[in-house]
Amino acid sequence: MNAIQIFLVLLLCVITYPFVIAFDAAGRAWRIKKVYAVDVTDEQLRRERRNSYFTTPIHPVTLAAAMLAGVLHVAPETWLGAGLTFIATFVWTEVYHYLLHRAIHLRSLHFIHREHHRSHITNTWTSISFSFYEEFFFAIGVIGGLSLVSQWLPVSMYGIVAYYLLYFFTNTLGHSNLEVNAPGYMDTLLGKIFTTSAYHAMHHARYVKNYGLLTRIMDRLFDSEWADTNEVQSRAARGEPLTALRQKFGSEAVGDGAVGAQSSRLAS
Ligand SMILES: [Zn+2]
Ligand SMILES: [Zn+2]
Repeated sequence: MNAIQIFLVLLLCVITYPFVIAFDAAGRAWRIKKVYAVDVTDEQLRRERRNSYFTTPIHPVTLAAAMLAGVLHVAPETWLGAGLTFIATFVWTEVYHYLLHRAIHLRSLHFIHREHHRSHITNTWTSISFSFYEEFFFAIGVIGGLSLVSQWLPVSMYGIVAYYLLYFFTNTLGHSNLEVNAPGYMDTLLGKIFTTSAYHAMHHARYVKNYGLLTRIMDRLFDSEWADTNEVQSRAARGEPLTALRQKFGSEAVGDGAVGAQSSRLAS
């Protein structure tokens, strides 16, 4: 690895912290509207900070290890190569993350995901609070897929790093419990594709559905999206946050008992 590559790996190890601190400060300074008006305890924040020290380096260290071991073949950098690698990493990660996320919600594998879901109300620190295994399996899948592709096609490290910067930034925002989009955003063309903070906040509060990472596409394909997602996003954006974890709207409010029971069983 050359000096630039080592610098980029080190940058990825720490870059989430400025994102976390900046979103926290912006949320307070600009009074950005909340998805859930439910307080996070100091104990949760301490636990999330503790977890972050172990989990933030896992993706970049896996990337560096794959390069050093000669498993991930990195091609000479070009703009085209970086762009195509960025797109391929984005698409592959959406698919892999969705499958992994569904798998670790199965009872037999849920021990991997339990730590992340101890946070029922999210904040920016939740975005880097995982068990070691969860982040490790995620990183192995992302880098493993790219390593396989690199056996036949040119793969750009800059493209991978650019994807991770986008992922770390949007993942911090996605866990911020701050809704930055306008009411009705999820009915727009962009909103029909990409998730928002409300989308993932609902996953944590209700424990199931809305599994998608940066897009809603896999949830829509596999019919695993909450029907009142657009309603919750619009309410949050209008300054009408939800006030209870199990608060639901429209068709989701009917038969709430069954879903609530499932959530409690998984949470225990
Ligand atoms: Zn989950
Ligand atoms: Zn989460």
